[in-house]
Amino acid sequence: MARRRKRRKKLSVVRRVKRPARYFNCPVCHEPTLTIDFKKSDDKPATKIAIVRCGSCGLNLTMEVPEVYERVDVYGIVVDKAHSGELEEALEAATADEASSEAENVEEEEGAELPTEEEVRY
Ligand SMILES: [Zn+2]
Repeated sequence: MARRRKRRKKLSVVRRVKRPARYFNCPVCHEPTLTIDFKKSDDKPATKIAIVRCGSCGLNLTMEVPEVYERVDVYGIVVDKAHSGELEEALEAATADEASSEAENVEEEEGAELPTEEEVRY
């Protein structure tokens, strides 16, 4: 029993070390839901693509960075862009797009579903 306990403790510690924090505070909506991922760039071997996304406000940004850059470096760029107002412009464009396509979908669904439901009930 004593042995088992020790083993279990060790495992959870290792797990923690292997999982670095992946979330940053979003400079636009200030929620801790900002993620930064990297993708290889085929064109230039010394650069990579950073993909910045926020699960709360829908911020979605890709940029080319030197291959040595880490998440914190990219985060610094994002914060700078947010302060200069660049991010808000990108965000407004994205939200406007989504809103218009969503409104179309809702209208279609309501027209098709509502009459059927009433028929069944009465
Ligand atoms: Zn956000």
